[in-house]
Amino acid sequence: MRAVVFYGPDDLRCEEIPTPTPAPGGLVLRIEAALTCGTDVKTLRRGHPVMIPHVPTVFGHELAGAVVAVGLGTRGFREGDRVVAANSAPCGQCPLCRAGRPNLCEDLLFVNGAYGEYIALPPRLVERNVVRLAAGTPAARAAFAEPLACALLGLERGRLEAGQTVAIFGHGPLGCLLAMLAVARKARVVLVGKRGWRLDRVRQLDLGDAIDTARVADPADEVRRLTGGRGADVTVDATGRPEAWEQAIASVGRGGTVVLFGGCAPGTTVRLDTRRAHYEELTLVGAFHHTPELIRRAVELLESEMVVPDPLLTHRMGLGEVREALELMARGEALKILIEP
Ligand SMILES: [Zn+2]
Ligand SMILES: [Zn+2]
Repeated sequence: MRAVVFYGPDDLRCEEIPTPTPAPGGLVLRIEAALTCGTDVKTLRRGHPVMIPHVPTVFGHELAGAVVAVGLGTRGFREGDRVVAANSAPCGQCPLCRAGRPNLCEDLLFVNGAYGEYIALPPRLVERNVVRLAAGTPAARAAFAEPLACALLGLERGRLEAGQTVAIFGHGPLGCLLAMLAVARKARVVLVGKRGWRLDRVRQLDLGDAIDTARVADPADEVRRLTGGRGADVTVDATGRPEAWEQAIASVGRGGTVVLFGGCAPGTTVRLDTRRAHYEELTLVGAFHHTPELIRRAVELLESEMVVPDPLLTHRMGLGEVREALELMARGEALKILIEP
């Protein structure tokens, strides 16, 4: 089969590799849709010790497809089932799994390989984090389950409620998915991002107010101006830049919650106003990855059309164009790119 294989930073090759066969308890899918992700861009640049511990490996991690082979003893799936597979499976046994926080599993098993014609899913993933799709669900929409589940975790951590205002820093695909979910929860959205193609595109989606960071001296002042001086109830950083973390903290109101959603480069730090943190009872909370339960909820939201992420698909390409697709992403000229094998 054809697949895009990651050999290490800046080394991605589209090549012919053996078509996988299913392990006992596993499945093989024919991939119908894969989506590019900001994480791919980061991984291609500097590798990813957690998500990709061994190379070479087939790249990509957001996918939907159809079961074409069922392993010995695999339960719950049949040939022809259309499914979405998450990119990880928790162990279910470590202290954090048992405490109901499987996204922090000490032995989280990551599965890559969306940019190929077929993918083998290991037994633990099949057991915990593969969801069957309804007949009419388009694969390209279903493939959003993984990033949407991450966004769900972010809003969950922020405990965002109807009628509240959320300021979201970052107008990449995850910033947009967070905004779409917040709108579905009937919250008011203020999106903060730098001018350019993406901000224009996001403005067309009409998710709420948009602040152009190139036009304002201090985005936090602007968030306060839009919220009657109080600041947002919840703020979320979806940029992974320490400056934006600080702006998210500066933009939250008394008693508010700051969701630290975007992962920053190792070794970076932020400053915190201790007076505000204490007297205004700020909650600063991290949000990482997703859980099997949230993957299922994401599929429900997509299938019920409570969230319709289709406008975030800005390009369609083939396996031979993955590198080009990731370059478009890196330059901020695309939101999500659909890769069809
Ligand atoms: Zn992703
Ligand atoms: Zn675990």
